[in-house]
Amino acid sequence: MKHDETKNKKVVTRFAPSPTGFMHVGGVRTALYAWLYARKHGGTFILRIEDTDKEREVEGSIGHIMEALKWLGIKWDEGPDIGGPNAPYLQSERLDSYRKYAQMLIDKGLAYADPYTEEELDVFRKKAEDEKRPFLYRDHRPENTPTWDGTQPLRLKIENPDLTKWHDLVRGDLSAGPEALDDFVLIKSDGYPTYNFAHIIDDLEMGVTHIMRADEFISSTPKFLALYEALSIEQPHIATLPPIMAPDGKKKLGKRDGAKDTLDYRNEGYLPEAMMNFLAFIGWNPGGEQEIYSKDELIKAFEIEKIHVSGGKFNEEKLKWFNKEYIKKMHVDDQFDYIKKFLPEDFKNAPYYEDTTLAKITHIIVDRITHFGEVGEMAKAGELEYFFKDPNVDSEMLVWKKLKDEKDGLEKTKKYLGEAIEILEQINIEDWTEDEIKHCLMEIAGKYGNGEVLWPIRVALSGREKSPDPFSLASILGKEKTIARIKKVI
Ligand code: GLU
Repeated sequence: MKHDETKNKKVVTRFAPSPTGFMHVGGVRTALYAWLYARKHGGTFILRIEDTDKEREVEGSIGHIMEALKWLGIKWDEGPDIGGPNAPYLQSERLDSYRKYAQMLIDKGLAYADPYTEEELDVFRKKAEDEKRPFLYRDHRPENTPTWDGTQPLRLKIENPDLTKWHDLVRGDLSAGPEALDDFVLIKSDGYPTYNFAHIIDDLEMGVTHIMRADEFISSTPKFLALYEALSIEQPHIATLPPIMAPDGKKKLGKRDGAKDTLDYRNEGYLPEAMMNFLAFIGWNPGGEQEIYSKDELIKAFEIEKIHVSGGKFNEEKLKWFNKEYIKKMHVDDQFDYIKKFLPEDFKNAPYYEDTTLAKITHIIVDRITHFGEVGEMAKAGELEYFFKDPNVDSEMLVWKKLKDEKDGLEKTKKYLGEAIEILEQINIEDWTEDEIKHCLMEIAGKYGNGEVLWPIRVALSGREKSPDPFSLASILGKEKTIARIKKVI
């Protein structure tokens, strides 16, 4: 079926994660593309939980998956928590549906109960291996099969294992030989369906029109097509997404290459809009120079045709760049709120801490970070404390490096600081601005040298080798504190 044949049908996409714990960025990107496509076409986006592999299930993952999607602003229209016309949305609660379709296949003579024990199958496997041919269950399909009582695996009978051809919206025309098709299991002996079977039934019942998923499912696609045919189902469109590659571009991104749980990025102070923008661009590009796309712009620009075939690299530096761009665009009050949230508790609870001071240094902090987690690091490294309390100044550090070898270096420094006080004292409180302070201090610096004068003032105010320039420090600290700190070091 060609892509445009369903043009008039309402678009329905779904994200169908298995609740196995970790919410990898790759999974989130799959959800994002499916969501963008549904939103763009005024369609429906479904969240379905594929929890039929009870052994791999990790407690708490369903909540975790939902939290990650909510954080990013990917809202589903139907799902386990909100219900919908095709409820339930947990596969483990849909067993009746799978049994119904299984029975239909049995009635058509297209599915049968597997009579073999694991040991018997092992013998067949071993024989095939010895004869150096692929093991195919269908070579051993029994003449007479027992009636399926739900305790044996139920298998699909592959009648014509011919060449399978299909069209992938991203990869184009694909095909696989007969060896890709075998009598595969539909329902396991524990009564749960396999992924191969369950997702076909769910997609059918939920009216899914477009499937977007990872490339590891390509090799199983002939099986899915065999099932569509056996059940006379119209095949939904399939779009295989490119893998997310490790930064070196050589292998898929794995935990060892720094793949993190999506919510770790929230905890490190990345912004959801930045994350969404960044993820959208790994494996898709609308073309053109623009890189910053709001949610609405992404929805408008998104097209399956522009999804790449080959993998996109996960580059955390690029994520930082996006995040910084989004931080810069935030309202200063929001920047303040984020910064405060990411300041360690002991810092906020210290007696010298004040919100008003934090508000004054918000722009300084914003200039120096790519994500808000760095605020905590700055605080721990002592890079913020001097705004809130008088620093201990080391007199060695106070002298500009070029003066250090001079006998009277310390004396000269004292003299410059004295002159600085004199000139600063003359500034009226209402004129105490960065520009005015700069103008006055540069007068002295012009006489004795920039480093000679500005370095010790900066150190007197911050107690540190590295800090913002003395003019912004002085303007933030205010006249009284500035003069007092310089006096103290003299
Ligand atoms: N439950 C499958 C997975 O984790 C979903 C595949 C699909 O989208 O069809 O990854």
